[in-house]
Amino acid sequence: MTQTTDVLIIGAGPAGLMAAEIIAEAGRSVLVVDAMPSAGRKFLLAGRGGLNLTHSEGVDDFLARYRGAQPHITPLIEAFSPLDLIDWCEGLGQPTFTGTSGRVFPKSFKTSPLLRAWLQRLTGLGVRFAFRHRWTGWNSQGQAMFSTPVGEQVIESRASLLALGGASWPRMGSDGGWVGIFEREGVTVTPLKPSNMGLNIAWSDILRNRFAGEPIKRAALTHDGVTIRGEAIVSERGLEGGAVYALSAPIRDAVMAHGSTTITIDLRPDLPLALIEEKLRQPRAKASASTFLHRAAGLAPIGIALMREACGGPLPVDAKALAALVKAVPLTVRGIEGIERAISTAGGVAFEGLTPHLMIRAKPGVFVAGEMLDWEAPTGGYLLQAGFASAVAAAHGIIGFLGHDDGSSPDQ
Ligand SMILES: Cc1cc2nc3c(=O)[nH]c(=O)nc-3n(C[C@H](O)[C@H](O)[C@H](O)COP(=O)(O)OP(=O)(O)OC[C@H]3O[C@@H](n4cnc5c(N)ncnc54)[C@H](O)[C@@H]3O)c2cc1C
Repeated sequence: MTQTTDVLIIGAGPAGLMAAEIIAEAGRSVLVVDAMPSAGRKFLLAGRGGLNLTHSEGVDDFLARYRGAQPHITPLIEAFSPLDLIDWCEGLGQPTFTGTSGRVFPKSFKTSPLLRAWLQRLTGLGVRFAFRHRWTGWNSQGQAMFSTPVGEQVIESRASLLALGGASWPRMGSDGGWVGIFEREGVTVTPLKPSNMGLNIAWSDILRNRFAGEPIKRAALTHDGVTIRGEAIVSERGLEGGAVYALSAPIRDAVMAHGSTTITIDLRPDLPLALIEEKLRQPRAKASASTFLHRAAGLAPIGIALMREACGGPLPVDAKALAALVKAVPLTVRGIEGIERAISTAGGVAFEGLTPHLMIRAKPGVFVAGEMLDWEAPTGGYLLQAGFASAVAAAHGIIGFLGHDDGSSPDQ
C-alpha cells in the first residue's frame, strides 16, 4: 500500500520534529516516521543528566565551537539563534535558566515535559506519526521505502526531510545505517567518527580497581597547547567527562594519525607553579608522601594516584620536580572509545552537495538536517542548537520548494 503526504519526515528526533512543526504551521500535510516505537529516544536520553539546550556565550565564541564546519553552521544559527531556541522552549511552557557555566537548561532539567508538550502541539497541528518504520532507501520512482512490522511499505511525498541522526548510542535509534544508502545514491558522506567520547589510557590495576568512577575535580586538561578547565572522571578504560569531551576531537585526530598522544592534567590550576613549589618545600617530618601532598598542596587521593601512575614508580622528592608534576601530570592516550559509546558523531552528509537550505543538489525535494550533517561540536548545548537550527533552515527550504512547485516563487 502506498501512503501519500505533502512532506515526509524520516526521523522523529529533535531535528525532524522541529521541521515538522514549522512545515505543519505553514499548512502542509506532514507525516513523521521513525524506526523506533516512539519519538525522541535520544532526546530523552540527553535529558537524563540535565538537558543542556544551548549556551549563553557571545555569538563569536559560540560559532567558533563548530570546528571546520563553522562557515556552514553560521548562517543556520544566525537564522535560528540560542535566544530563538530559548523562546521556543518557553513557548512550550518550559521556562529555562542559565547555569554558572553559561549553559542553558529547561528549569525541569529534563526532556520529558518538553517532549510531551511538543508532541501535543504537533498533533494539534495535524502532524501524523508512523513508528516502527525503518527507511531502507528509494525505489526507482524515487518513493521512500520502509520495512515495517506488516511488511514493506512505500510512502509518496512531494518533498522529504531525512533527519536520521548520527551513529552514537544506536540503541536509541540512530545507527548510521543510512550511510550506505546515501553512498549508493552518489551523495558524499564524510566517514562517521565518534565525537565527545572517552579516552583510553592503560591504567595500572591499582588505579583502575581503586579509582574507576572517581571524579578529578577542578582540574585543567591540556592537549597540544589547548587547556580546558573542568571535571574528568576516571573510567575502567581511561577518562571521560566534560573537560575530556571538550578536547576529544583534536585528541581523536591525533590518536588516529599517530597511534597515541599525550595529555597533561593540572591538578591545582588555581595555584601558580612557584607557590606550589614553595608549599612543597615545607619539612615533611615523618609524613608519608600522600599525607604530605594532601596537607601541603591540597591534593585528593585520585590526584596523587595519577601522579604515581605517570611516574610509574616513586614520586620525585625534589620540590621543584614534584610541583611541576602537580601542574602537569602526563598521561598517554592510546585509543578512543567507539562511536556506540560516544555522546555524538562527527562526519556525515557533506555540505558541498547541499543547497543553503540543505536540499541534496542531486536529489531535488530531498532535504537533510540534524546530526547526520558533517559538523561536530563539544557538549555545552552546541549539539542541539545546531540540530534545531539546521531543521529550521531545511523546513523553510521545503516550504519554499513546495511553493515553487505550486507556481509561486522558489526559496532555494
Ligand atoms: C548521553 C547523551 C547526552 C546528550 N546530552 C546532550 C545535551 O545535554 N545537549 C545537547 O545539545 N546535546 C546532547 N546530546 C546530543 C543530542 O541528543 C543529539 O545531538 C540530538 O539528539 C540529535 O538530534 P537529531 O534529530 O539530529 O538525531 P536523533 O535524535 O538521533 O534522531 C534521529 C532519529 O532518526 C531515527 N532513524 C535513524 N535511522 C532511521 C531509519 N533508517 N529509518 C527510520 N528512522 C530512523 C532514529 O530512530 C531517531 O529517532 C546528548 C547525546 C547523548 C547520547
